[in-house]
Amino acid sequence: MISGESSSDKKDGAPCACPFCDAPVAQAYPFCKSCGKNLKRCPGCGKVIPEDQDTCPECAG
Ligand SMILES: [Zn+2]
Ligand SMILES: [Zn+2]
Repeated sequence: MISGESSSDKKDGAPCACPFCDAPVAQAYPFCKSCGKNLKRCPGCGKVIPEDQDTCPECAG
C-alpha cells in the first residue's frame, strides 16, 4: 500500500465531473458513461458546464 496522499475529499484535479452523478467523465465523451446524461461542454476549454450554468466555470467562456 502506498500512503502519502490523504483520501480525496475534494474534486480538484479531475478533468471534469458529471454534474448529475459526480462521476469523473473523460473529456473525449460528450456524455456521462455512468448515468448516461448528456453533458454540456464549454467550447473553449472542453470542461463540463453544470446544467444550471450558462457559462464555463473554468474560463467563463
Ligand atoms: Zn453522470
Ligand atoms: Zn471553459
